[in-house]
Amino acid sequence: MEVKSQKKTPRRRSTRQRRVILQVLRSTKSHPTADWVYEQVRQEIPNISLGTVYRNLKLLRDMGEVMELSFGSTYSRFDGNPEPHYHFSCKDCGRVFDVDIPVAKELEDAVRRQHGWEVLYHRTEFYGCCNDCKQQQEEKQP
Ligand code: ZN
Ligand code: MN
Repeated sequence: MEVKSQKKTPRRRSTRQRRVILQVLRSTKSHPTADWVYEQVRQEIPNISLGTVYRNLKLLRDMGEVMELSFGSTYSRFDGNPEPHYHFSCKDCGRVFDVDIPVAKELEDAVRRQHGWEVLYHRTEFYGCCNDCKQQQEEKQP
């Protein structure tokens, strides 16, 4: 029994944890919080802690595998798609959507020309009211 448990080296365990966390993130387009990821991962690895999930999310972010989206004072959300793209945040329901427009590289060129800085990337978030919430508000109106 003891030999069997020793086979699960910390390295192997953390690799599996990280793989499951990445799978969970890649399987959704909802840009979830760490808490949501934790609840999903627990179905596969029941004894994992929220701290471990959080640490691995930060690690995956540093490895460039996922993106961390922070929206001011609210909790960070995570995105399984690390490629540069824009987001739309609904002020009413709080959902975060991908925006299907090309990333405006010309903005980076403009900053480079104006200031001479080396621009690595830029982030832009759009805020407003999503279609579901818009429709609900229209239905409420007499
Ligand atoms: Zn909404
Ligand atoms: Mn996204």
